[in-house]
Amino acid sequence: MASDWKSFEPVLIPDIPNLEKIEVYEKNGGYESLKNVVTSSDWTPEGVVNEVKAANIRGRGGAGFNAGLKWSFMPKPDGGPRYLACNGDESEPGTFKDRKIFEYNPHLFIEGALIAAYAMQITTIYVYVRGEYISWVNMMEKALQDARDKGYIGKNLFGTDYSVEFEITYGAGAYICGEETSMLESLEGKRGYPRVKPPFPAQKGLWGRPTTINNIETLANVPLVIKNGADWFKGIGAENHPGPVLYGISGHVNRPGVYELPTGVPVMDLINDVAQGIRGGKKLKALIPGGSSTPVLRADQLENTSMDSDSLREAGSMMGTAGMIVMDEDTDMVDALWRISHFYHHESCGQCTPCREGTGWAEKILLKIKNGDGEIRDLDLLLDLTTQMEGRTICALADAAAWPIRHTINRFRDEFEARCKKSVHAVA
Ligand code: NAD
Ligand code: SF4
Repeated sequence: MASDWKSFEPVLIPDIPNLEKIEVYEKNGGYESLKNVVTSSDWTPEGVVNEVKAANIRGRGGAGFNAGLKWSFMPKPDGGPRYLACNGDESEPGTFKDRKIFEYNPHLFIEGALIAAYAMQITTIYVYVRGEYISWVNMMEKALQDARDKGYIGKNLFGTDYSVEFEITYGAGAYICGEETSMLESLEGKRGYPRVKPPFPAQKGLWGRPTTINNIETLANVPLVIKNGADWFKGIGAENHPGPVLYGISGHVNRPGVYELPTGVPVMDLINDVAQGIRGGKKLKALIPGGSSTPVLRADQLENTSMDSDSLREAGSMMGTAGMIVMDEDTDMVDALWRISHFYHHESCGQCTPCREGTGWAEKILLKIKNGDGEIRDLDLLLDLTTQMEGRTICALADAAAWPIRHTINRFRDEFEARCKKSVHAVA
């Protein structure tokens, strides 16, 4: 994508005043996609799943899994309950975009969740929202009540046999409750411990029943796909990672914020044009592209890189949640890595030894280096530790903790060594 992103008109959070009000949303075509799929003979539940699968909406919660493909994993209805759990627990450092949908366009998400539920013949929808988002929870409560009052939620939708319930619940600020199986435990009223997969939630989810978990932004794309078609969606942004995306840009930029643009925008355009460059006229040093678990990239790795999974993989990182953390030339990478490691240690649920102990050791060793007491061999110890943590645990938190350590040390080794050398000199 060259510069054609500049003419893109937002569709997830368009510039329509009072769109959070149901009347305004309806006036702008809202809930027509839902009505269509539920009442029109042009659509069957399988047809909806296939259209969404063809659109290739890559999950916006971080994993980038094709949403329609995930829906297709649900077993055939057997008359028992089936669930959709909408994940609004975003809390990975750098990730703060779903709340914009709650605030500016909650009905787009609600409509998307209802279409998803219909497509999978789901009977109950839960939306799990980050506890600290209390004002956004209140906005969602209001939006859900308005949708209920208008008959978009409840018994016999549009006079058909299809009925669905939609409830909101909120977490208590534990990062691990954003992990899908941990969220299910929390919804069941238990402590948020991740479950071993398989079985995947599609087979055995909430209360042992088939369950799909989708991110809020992912679901907000669904009514747009139904209204405009999969080809329209695939025509936006990067070929292998299409659609609009909410970029959350934070860190040392002049204009941090959430910006809706197509996928595949060049990284340097996002930093220099969209976020209006680095604060104080400083130079760019590094970027974490998609939330703190995605590998950091040095400025020289960003020149020809754009924000989509293929381009970022080639550069040595991942798209994640498109939560971009920008770091200027004054950033202390040892301090930054210690801070990230402190977060993962604090948030580890403690079930698995490599994660519980590994995140703790990593934080302690990094603190030692940060305080000037580290030795060069500590760097190799840390790198070895990451191989002991990765791929050996119940959930991905240990991987998410290991990757920043490995890539930050490897990509800024001089800076880490310099800090260690200084301590050796000081001791001598
Ligand atoms: P994953 O790749 O393991 O799974 C992706 C999804 O596909 C899951 O819903 C999973 O159940 C489903 N799936 C995969 N294979 C399946 C199969 N064979 N059968 C049925 N279903 C299957 O990733 P994940 O654990 O869901 O998510 C990890 C990602 O979450 C990380 O990459 C990280 O970027 C992101 N993350 C985001 C936040 C945030 O604040 N938004 C916080 C932490 C982590
Ligand atoms: Fe808990 Fe960490 Fe194991 Fe995940 S990897 S289940 S957070 S101990």
